[in-house]
Amino acid sequence: MSEIRRDPISKSWIILATERAKRSSDFMEIQREEKTAKSKCPFCGKGEMTEPLDSFAVWPGERVGEEKPIWKTRVLPNKFPALYPSVELVQDSEKGLYHFLSGTGGHEVIVDSPAHDETFATMSLDQLRAIINTYAHRYKFWKLDPRIAYVLVFRNYKRAAGASLSHPHSQVIATPIIPPRISEEMDQVKDYYEQNDSCVFCDILKLEMEDKAKRKVFENDTMFAFCPFASRIPFEICIAPKEHEGSMKNLPKNQVQDLAETLSAVFKKLAKLLNDPAYNFSIHVAPLKTPDLVYYHWHIEILPRLTIAAGFEWGSGIYINVVSPEKAAKELRETDEAF
Ligand SMILES: [Zn+2]
Ligand SMILES: [Zn+2]
Ligand SMILES: [Zn+2]
Repeated sequence: MSEIRRDPISKSWIILATERAKRSSDFMEIQREEKTAKSKCPFCGKGEMTEPLDSFAVWPGERVGEEKPIWKTRVLPNKFPALYPSVELVQDSEKGLYHFLSGTGGHEVIVDSPAHDETFATMSLDQLRAIINTYAHRYKFWKLDPRIAYVLVFRNYKRAAGASLSHPHSQVIATPIIPPRISEEMDQVKDYYEQNDSCVFCDILKLEMEDKAKRKVFENDTMFAFCPFASRIPFEICIAPKEHEGSMKNLPKNQVQDLAETLSAVFKKLAKLLNDPAYNFSIHVAPLKTPDLVYYHWHIEILPRLTIAAGFEWGSGIYINVVSPEKAAKELRETDEAF
């Protein structure tokens, strides 16, 4: 039997059709991957420390050999950017009907590690902390540019999720507009706040923490990972801080540590259970100019690419999910994180 579920944040609907389900082992067959060779990798190899110039790097404060310090993460301008910081921001329209803006903004690559073959599942907690601190740094950096309204940090892992290079990397796109997925979420959660006088994310977390672990994947003192009630795709995971916070730019040290631990656990579980699947990962925070909204709560959305959205999904905006979040969470919970 199927069920139509509504997501309390986006208010969008999904169809849970578990009769069409596969076992998690059936998803593994599509996970074939051709890796970029180390010798052809632009993030490895010669000259990487000089060209192009890093906008930011997390240094461990030590040097190896004569001159080259070891870096942990680096921020580089994207070679083929979607938006350009040097372009003046202008807006106009064609006969008042077609509105457009200049392509002003930023597009950066964060090289997540100097090691070519590392993944979130195999990285040390120290490395994951460096990545989280780099993300936080990019929010602070772009906040200084008055033209920028939003910064989306995301990660495409493996070709099936849109990655063209296999060296571990994240991306940052800074836009002069608030992306529609975010503004939709904001409108909906604002409504909820006005009606209930509470943040919908806080209420969801409260319920999921009490809910006898039905959809919980992992938790520690300050972070909670779960499969959302209206998961759009099999094994969708949301990670959110237990305490209300609109953005992650000022994460205290213990939360950086807890988030590193949560990312490590979640990706180890995914890798083990589903043979290291392709995924998209994005961080939703409040817009740069309003980081402390009482009704917006930052979170990470992880979407493993195990199925392909087709005509019905594109045409209707309704996803058909063949694995219930309760089942996905149970399987992930029961997959131990030892690697
Ligand atoms: Zn590499
Ligand atoms: Zn909240
Ligand atoms: Zn979101």
